Amino acid sequence: MNQVILPGATLGVLGSGQLGRMFAVAARRMGYRVHVLSPDDDTPAGQIADVEINASYDDLDAVAKFARGVSVVTFEFENVPSATTEAAERFAPVRPRGAVLHATQNRLREKRFLQTIGVPTTPFAAVRSVADLAQAVEALRLPAVLKTADWGYDGKGQRMLRPGDELATAWNSLATTEAILEAFVDYECELSVVGARGLNGDVALYGPIHNEHRNHILDVSHCPAALPDGVATSALEIGRAVLEALDVVGVLCVEMFLARDGRLLVNELAPRPHNSGHLTIDAHVSCQFEQQVRAVCGLPLGSARQLTPAAMVNLLGDLWRNGDPAWARACAAPEVKLHLYGKQQARPGRKMGHLTALAPTAELAVELAHGARRALVCSADSRG
Ligand code: AMP
Repeated sequence: MNQVILPGATLGVLGSGQLGRMFAVAARRMGYRVHVLSPDDDTPAGQIADVEINASYDDLDAVAKFARGVSVVTFEFENVPSATTEAAERFAPVRPRGAVLHATQNRLREKRFLQTIGVPTTPFAAVRSVADLAQAVEALRLPAVLKTADWGYDGKGQRMLRPGDELATAWNSLATTEAILEAFVDYECELSVVGARGLNGDVALYGPIHNEHRNHILDVSHCPAALPDGVATSALEIGRAVLEALDVVGVLCVEMFLARDGRLLVNELAPRPHNSGHLTIDAHVSCQFEQQVRAVCGLPLGSARQLTPAAMVNLLGDLWRNGDPAWARACAAPEVKLHLYGKQQARPGRKMGHLTALAPTAELAVELAHGARRALVCSADSRG
């Protein structure tokens, strides 16, 4: 089972979005074949893969057939049902292993796990009824953030609770049986550490990466982050501790808040490459997707050394409001790299692509990235 999977072999991906696409690009560059399985067709990952299998994750026969045809299975989003990974595991190793998915699929489980390994998290309480919510509000005080325990991403399934808000209305609006109330963290900034861990236990860490969200969706990331003494080292130590405690083989991202009192508090984990790590494609020796390939194949990890300061801005569907963005204008800045995910429909809030800007400092890279994104939106007659 622990044999190295060499170029020429076929790698399987559960899920077919942009993370699977960039994994497939890295894998094919290294000479692997890629099969993806997802409920959709003509997907971002499927457009790059050798084979795109269109089946529901609950179709365990299709999952078993898919797993039989590959040397290893990985995934590109964390909400793959555990029955699916178990069905795949009968025929091929799943990396990271299903237990990593299990730990990170539920916000309560995830935070309790972090507590057991001594990693500080945002203060939280479990909520299963309005009465629980009242008790949690009493303990944590408002403002606070109420989130569904399962299936949350990009701010979906969460709402802010402020003094005076009707608790029953808030609870009912989530339409769930299990939620988590988190104290609202008055943070200095948001950071992430993306880490890869190989089959032999070696670890490579990126960051910390500085992240800014807009409407709960990542908007801008830059690296290196300007931080007070010691913060970067502590953030990287947390990243390493989580990768090791979960025995991850693959890539995992730790999202954190740097609170105004200087503490680092973990907000959440993603057991896969992360949007904040996209700048590693253009700015680092080996990017997060290449590390995912190397790790799940049992190859030595590549270097996570940063070659140049960089910033990434997301391109959301909102940019298409007045027609296709002016791509040539973004490409007019020679130190800006365009990445598009091949999605046919641009909807508001949908991640369609990103731009990465390279510059002598991270601050200049952020400016350059913002400028290039602004240049994408222009009147139809100046489109070029
Ligand atoms: P999440 O889905 O938990 O990653 O939340 C999305 C974004 O909402 C975070 O990146 C923060 O910008 C904000 N957020 C979530 N939870 C909290 C919190 N407890 N305190 C302050 N901001 C939060």
